[in-house]
Amino acid sequence: LSGLDRLKHPGLNKGMAFSIEERQTLGIHGLLPARVKTQEEQVQLCKLSIERYEDPLNKYIYLMGLLDRNEHLFYRFVGENVADMMPIVYTPTVGLACQKYGLVYRRPRGLFITINDKGHVYDILKNWPETDVRAIVVTDGERILGLGDLGACGMGIPVGKLALYTALAGIKPHQCLPITIDVGTNTKAMLDDPLYIGLRHRRVTGAAYDELIDEFMTAVVRRYGQNCLIQFEDFGNANAFRLLEKYRGKYCTFNDDIQGTAAVAVAGLLASLRVTGKKLSDNTIVFQGAGEASLGIAELCVMAMKAEGTADADARRKIWMVDSKGLIVKNRPEGGVNEHKAKLAQDHAPVKTLAEVVDVAKPSVLIGAAAIGGAFTPAILQRMGELNDKPVIFALSNPTSKAECTAEAAYSNTNDRAIFASGSPFPDYRAKDGRVLRPGQGNNSYIFPGLALGIICAGIVDISEDFLLLSAEALAEMVTQKDLDQGSLYPPLEDIQNCSVRIAKKLVEHAYKTGKASVQPQPLDTEAFIRAQMYDTTYPPAVPPVYTWPADSAPRV
Ligand code: NAP
Ligand code: MN
Repeated sequence: LSGLDRLKHPGLNKGMAFSIEERQTLGIHGLLPARVKTQEEQVQLCKLSIERYEDPLNKYIYLMGLLDRNEHLFYRFVGENVADMMPIVYTPTVGLACQKYGLVYRRPRGLFITINDKGHVYDILKNWPETDVRAIVVTDGERILGLGDLGACGMGIPVGKLALYTALAGIKPHQCLPITIDVGTNTKAMLDDPLYIGLRHRRVTGAAYDELIDEFMTAVVRRYGQNCLIQFEDFGNANAFRLLEKYRGKYCTFNDDIQGTAAVAVAGLLASLRVTGKKLSDNTIVFQGAGEASLGIAELCVMAMKAEGTADADARRKIWMVDSKGLIVKNRPEGGVNEHKAKLAQDHAPVKTLAEVVDVAKPSVLIGAAAIGGAFTPAILQRMGELNDKPVIFALSNPTSKAECTAEAAYSNTNDRAIFASGSPFPDYRAKDGRVLRPGQGNNSYIFPGLALGIICAGIVDISEDFLLLSAEALAEMVTQKDLDQGSLYPPLEDIQNCSVRIAKKLVEHAYKTGKASVQPQPLDTEAFIRAQMYDTTYPPAVPPVYTWPADSAPRV
């Protein structure tokens, strides 16, 4: 590579941090101003630069520009400012970016595989310049956050998630590949938008869709091997469950919306037990929504209750699911109960509204993931406060506009007694007694980067449910008494990189114990083994070390 190539290559560029020696050796001396900066100074400048933008979408565009210019700096900056940058790289701003993807799209990032490319998916994968891809995040854009079908504009999600793979778990950037499968979109606003970047027709479904996904899975294995992780992200409900069942056990795959969400929510619930002094199976849980998130959480709750010694049927009786038609009951007259919902149906007469279900079930835990903003009305929250000394309330729907209630509403309607967590971030809240409550964010980013790190390090191919419960337990163990005292069920976002390593460590150890690790031999020191594989954001030298030989051994001319 020429020096100029290095200046333009985001993985090799150091900007003004190239030393004078490097500038001279590489033939780029004079192309940069005289000052040689440290990376710390550059991080400072990033901070100043991004603060100049008020519009979050502009902050997003700045960050993506930085990623296009200087990878090491981007990951150091995001990694050191997780709490501030997370809402931009991830929910809520990433949602806005997806809605306006035609506007923010600048440089190629990730692969688009369309329905027109059937029969040629492997060829497209070969066009990706990196050969050592270990993790793919793939979406078909049908259910982006709680925003619905955004088609090809969903690309912002795999891009953002993989940026977090690196920033939060040190998975090397060149090992990550974001992919969007474009089969069209059913959203009229997208189809009518002159800036829309995808195929301009309605979604192709049925056999053609299934064949494309099948071809994609086999093409990934052919190009990158059986142990390349494929994270499914923001697929529509029916496809998400179907594809997970179809591919798990056969491919190295998990669905973050079902399984990752389950782990992060259950981690929060496990932490809440330390506040309420209960066992998980002592709780009655009502879910608003019975989709990917809710069903995933509910099933992992069943697993966790069983681990406490509760029988399967008893665990299921503690869980009440509400979908768009009301409480899910056996022999529901309206029908509409798929096999996943059926496993959690209550033996009860039909109940229509969430408020009525809360009255009937008398829950100690209320979890919302139906993308219906404001569904936890003041009346419902007050009822939770009457029923419980410390009601546990999770408003998980994203982005913020879809949250079931705000942190403030949860606290103020329960005399500040609620134990609250949300999917999108909420500001601190000052309780009447003067305490400042910092509600925790039940953010999937606590789980999926560490999960992926463990999977990649140990070469786990079959991601069975025990790995997810273990991840939840590992995260819950990271929550300190101080966090709980501040009303948070999660460690501070600043600690997320430590959470990732802790989760990965547990998974790797479990994988070797259960014979699920394909990387052999087993390392002696698990944590050192993991850390040695992680991305380093400090700049490597741009010129090889130069050293002299003893004078008498140099050939004479
Ligand atoms: P999904 O699979 O489409 O499920 C949505 C569910 O909501 C469906 O069961 C639907 O009922 C139900 N619903 C719709 N309208 C309703 C109403 N009026 N009353 C009660 N239920 C209603 O979506 P998902 O993947 O579960 O995601 C849902 C939300 O959770 C999204 O906003 C997403 O961003 C959020 N989420 C948050 C996190 C997190 O915080 N960590 C993680 C994942 C997802 P039917 O089944 O009858 O259609
Ligand atoms: Mn998602």
